[in-house]
Amino acid sequence: MSRRHAGWTGRVVAKARVYWASRLYLAASTGTPLPCHRCGGAVLPTDDWDVDHIVGRAEGGRVLDRNNQWPSHSNCNRRDGQRKTTELRAKAKQRLWSW
Ligand SMILES: [Zn+2]
Repeated sequence: MSRRHAGWTGRVVAKARVYWASRLYLAASTGTPLPCHRCGGAVLPTDDWDVDHIVGRAEGGRVLDRNNQWPSHSNCNRRDGQRKTTELRAKAKQRLWSW
């Protein structure tokens, strides 16, 4: 266990969520909700959302740095991870739901 791998886990995530929850509430209350890191749509405090990273851990991003954090919809975040298998299907679904 080296410090380099100090994790994005339990307590750390919980703290980040508290911080970003207050940012989301503030932004939504002023009528300019924060955009989702993945889809660019508004993230509302009542949505399902995750604390995402602008530069991912795999690319050497600093996961604990708030300047490298941004909220994403939970769906967008998960979908991005499975993009290879589900991208086309998700797009087809969106098209169906848009009308
Ligand atoms: Zn999104």
